[in-house]
Amino acid sequence: MAQIIRKVGVIGAGQMGNGIAHVCALAGYSVLLNDVEPDRIKAGLATINGNMARQVSRKLISEDERQAALARIGAAETIEALGDCDLVIESAVEKEEVKRKIFAELCKSLKPDAIIGSNTSSISITRLASNTDRPERFIGIHFMNPVPVMELVEVIRGIATDDAAFETTREFVARLGKTMAVAEDFPAFIVNRILLPMINEAVYTLYEGVGTVESIDTAMRLGANHPMGPLQLADFIGLDTCLSVMQVLYEGLADSKYRPCPLLVKYVEAGWLGRKTQRGFYDYRGEKPVPTR
Ligand code: NAD
Repeated sequence: MAQIIRKVGVIGAGQMGNGIAHVCALAGYSVLLNDVEPDRIKAGLATINGNMARQVSRKLISEDERQAALARIGAAETIEALGDCDLVIESAVEKEEVKRKIFAELCKSLKPDAIIGSNTSSISITRLASNTDRPERFIGIHFMNPVPVMELVEVIRGIATDDAAFETTREFVARLGKTMAVAEDFPAFIVNRILLPMINEAVYTLYEGVGTVESIDTAMRLGANHPMGPLQLADFIGLDTCLSVMQVLYEGLADSKYRPCPLLVKYVEAGWLGRKTQRGFYDYRGEKPVPTR
């Protein structure tokens, strides 16, 4: 039997976390947004406000709906403040040790029957769950970027996830107006298992000089009918996230075909992480994005 979810906590107020808080509030849940950096919470709330205003101007939602949704979102300065949430979705950086620490901390104050979801792009749900006091109520709820726009949510059961948690998640995803695809718990699940090796191959294509940033993206947009070129998409996802997913695939599947391209590593080392830092395969600091290679 599915549990009733009323209050949702979101840990990590970055590009994904604020999107998750946004769609939950619009669906009528009360939402608490948490981050280690208080400024990120503030920035996240401002982004949600702006994104909802854009939805109003596009007539996707009414001004009343926007106001009501905004009133349902609050800031949680500490992780303890999430204690009475029915569902907490973790969407902090894609680093296993960071996520493990968050779960250890969260379990100290979270009510025992609450469900924990992780928005991880690639890390084993079973392994993350084993680090909590409730592997049976731990599940992967993997949103796509940008959350308010993308229809899919991948749902991943860990080995111990029980039917009640799964059914609760199914109902939660449906109430958000999203479509669920169920994936088994193997590295990077479905979407990123297929998408990230393609992006990594695009970076190799650039690295080996087969094409420029512009020719690679144009080729895939017009030649494969992709709405966005792979390097543009990589910037959009975040190059640190892309690299983390490739590392998880490489280590988790022990196959050299998943080795991250050295050029991707170099961009990440430079702190050129894509749109979120204003520079990646394109430079976004001017009026129009300019290729950086
Ligand atoms: P981001 O860098 O925009 O945001 C991460 C946030 O986590 C930052 O605000 C950071 O301050 C915060 N954080 C770091 N340590 C924390 C801690 N201990 N407690 C609370 N907050 C902490 O990253 P993002 O793109 O929003 O990605 C977040 C998660 O979502 C990752 O697991 C990523 O793999 C996953 N994801 C990303 C995408 C994408 O396209 N970017 C898509 C699906 C899933």
